Amino acid sequence: RAKDGGRNQLQFYTSEMNARVTERTLIEGHLRNALTRHEFVLYFQPRIDCGTGRVAGLEALLRWRQPELGLVQPDRFIGVAEETGRIVEIGEWVLYEACRQAKSWQDAGLPRVPVAVNVSARQFRQAGFVQEVRDALASSGLAPEYLELELTESLMMQNIEAVITAMRLLKDSGVRLSIDDFGTGYSSLSYLRRFPLDYLKIDRSFVRDMLHDAPGAAIVRSMITLGHSLGCRIIAEGVETRDQLGYLTQQGCDEIQGFLCSRPVPVEQAGELLHAEG
Ligand code: C2E
Ligand code: MG
Ligand code: MG
Ligand code: MG
Repeated sequence: RAKDGGRNQLQFYTSEMNARVTERTLIEGHLRNALTRHEFVLYFQPRIDCGTGRVAGLEALLRWRQPELGLVQPDRFIGVAEETGRIVEIGEWVLYEACRQAKSWQDAGLPRVPVAVNVSARQFRQAGFVQEVRDALASSGLAPEYLELELTESLMMQNIEAVITAMRLLKDSGVRLSIDDFGTGYSSLSYLRRFPLDYLKIDRSFVRDMLHDAPGAAIVRSMITLGHSLGCRIIAEGVETRDQLGYLTQQGCDEIQGFLCSRPVPVEQAGELLHAEG
């Protein structure tokens, strides 16, 4: 493509590639010391039960306070952390920190809701992952039913047998499991029923398109039916409008998460959200 576009096109691609390499090198370099310098923080986004209107859980979402770069969002660094393998130790920190925070809210007498943690494929595939989860629960003192692990569809569809085995062990430990970004990862429907799942999270791209055309709405309806037939509760991600909430509720969606209810917020504000529930 660069070739038939001629010299200018080639230069364009080259400078864009350079910019990408520079950004990657920058992020990779800063990531090296991020954990030891305590630059990571967790934000929390609530999800709301459509039936009761109450907070049904909080998702822990990683943020990076980098002195030179400011508050860095996951889309800018999770990919690099995955490629370099650094996600393993970062993910371990997230797991411990989320459990510790959830327990500390409970100890403060706030309403008990589960905290959800995103797990990357690389982290999940580590031999010691199941034990790491048990250790995080034991050291924080958090009861396992208050921890949820969000696994992406693409993670689950590779090495399916090994994934199922690990998921069963996690379920035996008492934690809850979700399939995240559902609909974006080419699930094999015949395998889906074999995963011990508690929640199915409809990816926000489907929620965004849902009210624009009939096929968009039909897809979301089918996902809700499919999820329920697998025994899952359905969480819709990225709900931004009352109309979306109305449609989802009408179709039997169980819980919603999105800017309509709250953006992801820092720890203190998340505590206030819980306090308002109590
Ligand atoms: P995710 O797990 O699907 O998380 C939901 C993302 O959607 C969050 O982005 C959240 O801020 C955003 N979101 C929520 N409601 C709305 C809405 O109404 N509208 C729009 N436009 N966006 C909404 P965030 O925090 O930037 O995280 C992006 C992704 O980064 C996450 O997607 C997850 O895949 C990954 N991530 C975040 N934290 C961690 C972590 O601790 N470990 C790992 N492995 N991945 C993480
Ligand atoms: Mg998630
Ligand atoms: Mg998601
Ligand atoms: Mg996502």
